[in-house]
Parts: sequence; C-alpha cells; structure tokens
Amino acid sequence: MSVTRVVLLGPPGSGKGTQAVGLALSLGVPTISTGAIFRANLSSGTALGVEAQKYMSAGELVPDSVTDAMVRSRLAEPDAAGGWVLDGYPRNLAQVSALDALLAESGLAVEVALELTVPEEAIVSRLAKRASIEGREDDTESVIRHRIAVYEEQTAPIASVYRSRGLLRSVDALGSVEEVGVRLLAAARGDGCGCSCGG
Ligand code: ADP
Repeated sequence: MSVTRVVLLGPPGSGKGTQAVGLALSLGVPTISTGAIFRANLSSGTALGVEAQKYMSAGELVPDSVTDAMVRSRLAEPDAAGGWVLDGYPRNLAQVSALDALLAESGLAVEVALELTVPEEAIVSRLAKRASIEGREDDTESVIRHRIAVYEEQTAPIASVYRSRGLLRSVDALGSVEEVGVRLLAAARGDGCGCSCGG
C-alpha cells in the first residue's frame, strides 16, 4: 500500500524543497511547504507574511502559534484530504505534538518520516550557490550558519521521535536530483531501499 502522509526532514540545503515536490507528484498528493507558504505571503504582503519575515530574515523559527495555525488551515483544504508531503513542518518537538494532536482529531497519523542526510560542507556550498541564483534574503552566510545551528538544536531531535515510533527512514541526499528522488521514493514505499532503514 502506498503511503500518503509523509514528513520530509533534512537540513537547509539538503534539497528537501525540490525533493518534496517530486515525491509528492509520485505519490499523487500535494506538497505542503511552510517556508514556501511564508514566502508567498511575504510577496503578496499579507499580515502573516510581514510577521513571518521578521523571523525568516534572521534565520529564526516563526513562532509555533503562527505556524501551527497556518498548517491547521492548510491541512483542512480539500486537496489535503488524501494525504500530503510535509516540507519544513514539523520543525521542533512542540510542532510534532501539535501535528499529532491535529491529525488525531481525524483519526489520522504520520505514516513515514523521511530524513535527507548530507554533510555540512555540502550544505554551505549548496546554499551559497542557491543565494546567487534565487536571491533569497535568508541565504547570506551568517544567516545560513544560524539556520544550520537552529536545525541542529531544534529540528534534528525530531528524527529521534519518529525513529522511536519506527517511522524514520534515512536517505543519502548526495547525488543528482534524479538519483536522490529514486532513493526517496523507494524509501517512502518501503522497497529495498539501500538506506539505513533496513528496508
Ligand atoms: P530552509 O529549510 O532551507 O531553511 P525553508 O523554506 O524550509 O528553508 O524555511 C525558511 C524559513 O521559514 C525558516 O528559516 C523559518 O524562519 C521559516 N519556517 C519554515 N517552516 C517553519 C516552521 N515549521 N516553523 C517555524 N518557522 C518555519
């Protein structure tokens, strides 16, 4: 049976946003990316965007109250009824609990958490390259370093929670977009994936 409720984890620069889109297409579900929703709100000048920008430009997490409410309303949209790939959420332990509680209201739960692994040197060079292409305000070197630190401190512990539930599968994120995409889909499906999940 195909999984449809997937959490994608990985440090900034792991290619998570790109892979989330490809994986969601393969699974036939929407991608829900909190970073992309914040950026869309910012470019259209909503109050949510203005609020989020204060944190994003500094590489800090947007407060949970704001993010959790945004995810709640996005998951209530009709296209999310059959599942999703979550990109960038949950991002700390409190958000894991908020997501659990939200899904439990509908008798649902996360089915698999996929973690993209990548060495730190690769992260910094990938993000520096993206900065020159996309011009994202939070891709300057000092903000990148801070985002990596926030990831290590607040987001990396999430993997242990999903591991303890038997839901975590780690995927090597070094390689071409296509190669990583194939590994990720195999891990999502639980095929012999050659990753550290034992699948
Ligand atoms: P990256 O993973 O490359 O840092 P994202 O697009 O996922 O990029 O996130 C960009 C910024 O958006 C984060 O640094 C943070 O400020 C904000 N953000 C995204 N998702 C969340 C979240 N779940 N909770 C709080 N802040 C978030």
